[in-house]
Amino acid sequence: MAAGTVHPGRIRLLNPIKTHPPSPPKPPSGPVIYWMFRDQRCSDNWALIHAIHLANQSSAPMAVAFNLFDRFLNAHARQLGFMLRGLDLLRRRLRDLSIPFFLFRGDAVDTIPKFVRECGASALVTDFSPLRSVREWKKEICERVGEGVRVYEVDAHNVVPVWVASDKLEYGAKTIRKKIQRALVEYLVEFPEISKPGSEWGLDDPKDVDWEELLTEVLREGCEVPEIEWCKPGEDAAMEVLMGDKEGFLTRRLKNYTSDRNDPLKPKALSRLSPYLHFGQISAQRCALEARKLRKAHPQAVDAFLEELIVRRELADNFCYYQPHYDSLQGAWDWARRTLMDHARDKREHYYTRDELENAKTADDLWNASQLEMVHHGKMHGFMRMYWAKKILEWTRGPEEALAIAIYLNDKYEIDGRDPNGYVGCMWSICGVHDQGWKERAVFGKIRYMNYAGCKRKFDTDGYIAYVNGLVVNSKKRKAENAKDFSGKKIQNLNLK
Ligand code: FAD
Repeated sequence: MAAGTVHPGRIRLLNPIKTHPPSPPKPPSGPVIYWMFRDQRCSDNWALIHAIHLANQSSAPMAVAFNLFDRFLNAHARQLGFMLRGLDLLRRRLRDLSIPFFLFRGDAVDTIPKFVRECGASALVTDFSPLRSVREWKKEICERVGEGVRVYEVDAHNVVPVWVASDKLEYGAKTIRKKIQRALVEYLVEFPEISKPGSEWGLDDPKDVDWEELLTEVLREGCEVPEIEWCKPGEDAAMEVLMGDKEGFLTRRLKNYTSDRNDPLKPKALSRLSPYLHFGQISAQRCALEARKLRKAHPQAVDAFLEELIVRRELADNFCYYQPHYDSLQGAWDWARRTLMDHARDKREHYYTRDELENAKTADDLWNASQLEMVHHGKMHGFMRMYWAKKILEWTRGPEEALAIAIYLNDKYEIDGRDPNGYVGCMWSICGVHDQGWKERAVFGKIRYMNYAGCKRKFDTDGYIAYVNGLVVNSKKRKAENAKDFSGKKIQNLNLK
């Protein structure tokens, strides 16, 4: 592997020309376009590195394109605001590298091939995502760009590319862990320094986008779920959360990860990296490289963090990639589907509708608190997420309904929602995916059960409820203040430099 290039195992050519015998693709003759969507960053981004490398091979120019969908997977102001603010910072970074950033709106299957045609590109580099819709768009885009354009997919999101880690649906962490660990030797390596592409763009510049106006529009349309303020978007903010001097996870908080990460009253014991990882504003590989340097000082904490960051996260991508029904009961293992159906008609102590659950109107104050933490704070504590989803199974009319409600709420309110981790988290809690069978009981069958008494034994449940009440009061105050700002004005402070 030459310096500055990407491990060939990380790249896939999606539309090879069928020749006999097969021949490797030629360097591109025209511009190279990087269609960015999952890995929204400049640093530590293998897809961007590959796009620059391809362009430099034949002294071709390169550009980054991004397509803004209308409300992709039920996104609201919370998620779209975070993303757009991050993109605004990103395009400035790219400008410093003389890489133009084109923002399109509509359907990527229309906008991306059209752009590729208009600028006469001969290569398109894309991010990897295991989600169904993205894979369908890519198929369509390959058709539409035609034979003359090579389409490359780069897995810049996982430390070990999903197709390298395993070529099949894995049963659980136990079966994928060794495979990932073996591949880390080759894949968990430092990134090359990124430098300006050799050739200037020289074609039409991106159309001026009024970012403030765009943000105002998007925030207004998605205002049912407002933005959160505790989590600043962008690559610099992400690095600050990872290793900033004041409150960085690795610099200040890592030592408590082993002891406190399952205590919902200590949310800062967790890394709080999930929003950045979800939007690709930080690379998981960067987090792993930096964490590994601290292994001597904090072996247990680093190992536990790497288990979540690499093994669990990449297992979620494995599930969504190899199981087309990753968000429905059909995607559960046979034993789990059987036991859930055997108990689907069991009498429940309570039945709640989706509205009642969304409005935290249940008889369980702990559950209500977790729902409110998600609605108002935008990030439910990881431990509570399990309890929260399992109770939805307990209180609805069967596993299909429970799963649909859990995914709907998770995607709507979590800042890190609409992610393979979310689909797998709901499938784990409700359908036993990546888990084993437990003692059979009503409603749950053999699916692992959790209850209030168990939580009470583990942490101060009253303290958690009081903590969330405080979050709600603050959030309502902020919402009232922000409502004034929507009186026709544009959103200020877009440039969070
Ligand atoms: P940390 O403990 O600091 O973890 C670091 C990183 O490791 C996380 O950011 C995440 O990328 C990964 N990770 C941690 N736990 C898991 C896990 N169980 N499975 C896969 N990866 C993990 N995670 C999301 O990113 N988005 C979601 O929408 C989401 N929804 C969930 C829903 C349910 C019902 C459950 C049970 C879990 C869900 N998770 C989700 C997984 C996990 O709860 C969150 O990743 C974690 O709470 C994020 O906080 P953190 O970054 O501070 O966690």
